[in-house]
Amino acid sequence: MMDTVDDDLDYFEVMAVADLPPSEPNRADCLGVSITPRLQILGFTVRQPCCWYHERDWSAISEAAVAILGQASKSGIVRAKDVYKFAQDGIRASGLQGQDRHALYELLCPGIALMVGPSGKGYTNGQHRGQAMKDLNVKRTVVLRWPPMTGEESPCS
Ligand SMILES: [Zn+2]
Repeated sequence: MMDTVDDDLDYFEVMAVADLPPSEPNRADCLGVSITPRLQILGFTVRQPCCWYHERDWSAISEAAVAILGQASKSGIVRAKDVYKFAQDGIRASGLQGQDRHALYELLCPGIALMVGPSGKGYTNGQHRGQAMKDLNVKRTVVLRWPPMTGEESPCS
């Protein structure tokens, strides 16, 4: 009988954005390249984002996620889906509004969180967010991890 990976064991961890893998050119023009999503004109920051992902305030969103993850950890909450349940009050209290708040929900939702491949190369999910974070010089964020599959447990080995 083959064991399956228990998604209850998925967990979040803080990761430096500089350590996120590069994005691959894909269906969006802003993937696979570095862009400047905010223009500085005459000392003013002009918001001219290229897309929804590059429009978000990922520094604020990521720091809110890191803070919520820290609070969850202090409460002994580790599993990703439990963190997501725990996070609901913190997300509402984060001060983020509208689409930035929605992005925070997504960053802490196990099904659509930022997921770096097991080898640390490429993304399982979230490469557009990762590229936007890099382009916006975000320092750190929260990524979903899972215990490595070993030996006979892995159907792919
Ligand atoms: Zn983009």
